Amino acid sequence: MGAAAYAANTPSTRRQEPHQFSFRKRPVVALTFDDLPAAGGLLSDDTRTRILTTLADELKANHLKGTYGFVTAVDLGDDPDVRQALRAWIDAGMNIGNHTWSHPSLSDESAQDYEHNIALDEPYLQAYARGRDWHWFRYPYLEEGNTLEKRNDVLAWLEERGYRVAQVTLNFEDDDWSDPYLRCLAKRDDAGIAWLKQSYMENAAEFIRLGREEQQIAFGHEVPNVLLLHATDFTTLMLPSLIHLLRQEGFRFAPLPKIEQNRAYAEEPKVALPDGGPLPDEFLRARHISSPPFQPEPVEQLNSLCR
Ligand SMILES: [Zn+2]
Repeated sequence: MGAAAYAANTPSTRRQEPHQFSFRKRPVVALTFDDLPAAGGLLSDDTRTRILTTLADELKANHLKGTYGFVTAVDLGDDPDVRQALRAWIDAGMNIGNHTWSHPSLSDESAQDYEHNIALDEPYLQAYARGRDWHWFRYPYLEEGNTLEKRNDVLAWLEERGYRVAQVTLNFEDDDWSDPYLRCLAKRDDAGIAWLKQSYMENAAEFIRLGREEQQIAFGHEVPNVLLLHATDFTTLMLPSLIHLLRQEGFRFAPLPKIEQNRAYAEEPKVALPDGGPLPDEFLRARHISSPPFQPEPVEQLNSLCR
């Protein structure tokens, strides 16, 4: 799903006065990675172990041990490389959480089937986590229920089972760069790859700004952030530049459990949405308030590049 989807105005959007934004000098963020152990495509001469080892090394070099990666265990299959990749992530001191077993959309499933799918992931998390806590849940597609009944059912089930929801405040759909990158690599298209690197960073900067502005509207102030990323080959390649961008903007880093102690994360938007979105965006949509203007993700260029 494109970034534009979740921030699109609805017909019932309320007109509002232009909002004045001023940003915190020292914002804080937790990085999180979805779709472990096999996010995005893989070139035939590459391995999952190389990608997750490189990603974990980069995080360690930036003192980000304990970073959470959210696992869909269906991808473990019986491929020794994929299994080794997840072990390497854990052995490097990173954490894992639940992302369901097979990444269903909650909009397409009953609450019971969805809860069963979450439970199917648990034996794998237990086996791989080396005794560390894995009771954090990230909703696939950030979809938290297209009816309130479903939303409340799954949330209550998660709480009963001891989970915290790994909410998101910042998302720039980084995984949409994964397939075009692999296509350009296969074609050895250096100009295409250069454009991908540049547009990835521009899109990241734009949506980080948008997320921070949405928080100011939704909560009246910026909150400690959680950035959604995916453990793809391309995001692994771009992580040093992304960390540099965040530092330039004044961000410091903190672990997910510490960030989500903030009381903004204890609030629940109580809204049924057909698609997913970050938490501040959900609050805006619950109140029919439009998002600030933003430059959309270059979806068409991404889809046509290196064909
Ligand atoms: Zn996912």
